[in-house]
Amino acid sequence: MTRNQGITDNILQLVGETPLVRLHSITKDFKGKYFAKLEAFNPGHSAKDRIALHIIENAEKKGIIKKGSTIVETTSGNTGFSLAMISIVKGYKCILAVSDKSSQDKIDMLKSMGAEVHICPANVAADDPRSYYEVAKRIHKETKKSVYINQYFNELNIDAHYRTTGPEIWKQTEGKITHLVVASGTGGTISGTGKYLKEQNPNIKILAVDAFGSVLKKYHETGKLDMNEVSPYKIEGLGKNLIPTATDFDVIDIYEKVTDKESAFASREIVKKEGIFCGYTSGAVLQATKQYNNQGYFTKNSFVVLIFPDHGSRYMNKIYNDSWMKAQGFL
Ligand code: PMP
Repeated sequence: MTRNQGITDNILQLVGETPLVRLHSITKDFKGKYFAKLEAFNPGHSAKDRIALHIIENAEKKGIIKKGSTIVETTSGNTGFSLAMISIVKGYKCILAVSDKSSQDKIDMLKSMGAEVHICPANVAADDPRSYYEVAKRIHKETKKSVYINQYFNELNIDAHYRTTGPEIWKQTEGKITHLVVASGTGGTISGTGKYLKEQNPNIKILAVDAFGSVLKKYHETGKLDMNEVSPYKIEGLGKNLIPTATDFDVIDIYEKVTDKESAFASREIVKKEGIFCGYTSGAVLQATKQYNNQGYFTKNSFVVLIFPDHGSRYMNKIYNDSWMKAQGFL
């Protein structure tokens, strides 16, 4: 534990060792005991600090980057913020290719954290030279001593959670955990954490959360990518329209899909009833936990850990804004 033990040399030493908090009223009608791992306690306010730091430090060890080098990624979300924060402390240049769908707030936030932001059209094919994937790849190729984080296809994403999130939960629960419920995006969190926990106790069930409109659940069940599953949805960071290699599908027991509306209300419920100001996918995780409970997954002896990936402040113009909720037809 580095947290709160004397002076911390720099902000990056506060990555990880996040608290595990007992949930009370929101889960009082479910069978078993429930706990939330609050990833918003990372200095960049999300679980992405763990992978960003691990991938960058790995590149440093391999000599791929050193002071003055460039970090490149395609993201407007939490990973971008973590990379920008780490780049400031370590003296790197941070270049992020984001889609023009990203809100101005997010773009301003990344710029205020010192990142160079390239805004790319969302409505072009992934292999179009103007797409944010291609722009990031080109910048990486053209920039000597740069590292392309590529979180969806980087095995170090899984490894970061295998080395940190998994052991933390095992220790914090004194090995009593029976179920882990995690939102699956890149799949790094669920795969790395789940793999570590199953190695300690193979009976632990790893329950994933996916979005209606994403291909992950169907792929887990059939082994096939079914693009008929794809449709637009609002929750950011959950689900995907491709199969990320940062997901180890063998570690996952089952997927449950959740709706935008129920997840938004579940987030608000966490805030109102537990005082935990959480992000949209935390609500998605609670909603999936309700569904798993209704389907009889838990008993009175269950010890269930939910990972809450980020902080509510990033969603002030979305789920915590009544006008936005009305515009979606949720209120
Ligand atoms: N919630 C949020 C808010 C996220 O940004 C992400 C990352 N895409 C996730 C959940 C899912 O985590 P992972 O990518 O590790 O599956």
